Amino acid sequence: MDVLGVVALIFSTLCFQPKHLLKPFRFGDVHLLLGFWYILVQYLSTTFLNPSFRVNNKILWKEIWMSTWSLFVMSAFTTPMEVLVQLGYSKVYHNVEDYGWFYLLISPFLFVFFSDTLIYFIHLGLHHRLVYKHLHKPHHSFIDTTPFAAFAFHPIDGFLQGVPYQLYVFCLPIHATLHLISLTVVGVWTINIHDRVDLHIPGVNGAGHHRVHHKTFKSNYGQYTVFWDKVFGTFKDPVEWVNQGAKEDREEEVYGKKYL
Ligand SMILES: [Zn+2]
Ligand SMILES: [Zn+2]
Repeated sequence: MDVLGVVALIFSTLCFQPKHLLKPFRFGDVHLLLGFWYILVQYLSTTFLNPSFRVNNKILWKEIWMSTWSLFVMSAFTTPMEVLVQLGYSKVYHNVEDYGWFYLLISPFLFVFFSDTLIYFIHLGLHHRLVYKHLHKPHHSFIDTTPFAAFAFHPIDGFLQGVPYQLYVFCLPIHATLHLISLTVVGVWTINIHDRVDLHIPGVNGAGHHRVHHKTFKSNYGQYTVFWDKVFGTFKDPVEWVNQGAKEDREEEVYGKKYL
């Protein structure tokens, strides 16, 4: 077990978000989860999956630091929308009978399609050369990511990529429990695509796909699925990418200038 991971875990438990911020995932909860996940993944990946990988501790602490301060700001940005939900201005409902079981069962698919579609275009926009250097570059300074990169964003970047989840509850009805579960899954999924453990589920945008995104800058913009990447020709299969030599693109080749 990695000593730094244990230190990160202890550090994480000390960083609790102020109670008045009405986030289902509180600041400390996120870092506690990240800490546990990091230790688990670090153990599994160095033992079984990717024994050659050694984490760069300097980069790891940069990820922890960026996600720590950024989560504070991102939470503040999203709090007004959460307050509106708590005050009953959204389409969140509490009784299954209001929309029936069939609607409840298809709700996760509607949620995934809605958020996956919006995030694809938001992420694509964040890679526009005029936007990238101001907002998305900090996240892409991490090439070989650890779970702590999951929330290491410029806060406006992280907020924009979270807007679809906040917006959904004002557009389509969703059961209150499912709303909480969906936000939890979003958090876990974001961690998973940065932890280098690819689950190889067909059609699903996994850690392998997102690793290629961090290595090439211009492919695999999706969050949950590869649907829109395949539609718009930005899909890159991680296994084929490795088999073809795992060519990494340099930032200056993609954007004409190195923004580090
Ligand atoms: Zn990106
Ligand atoms: Zn990423």
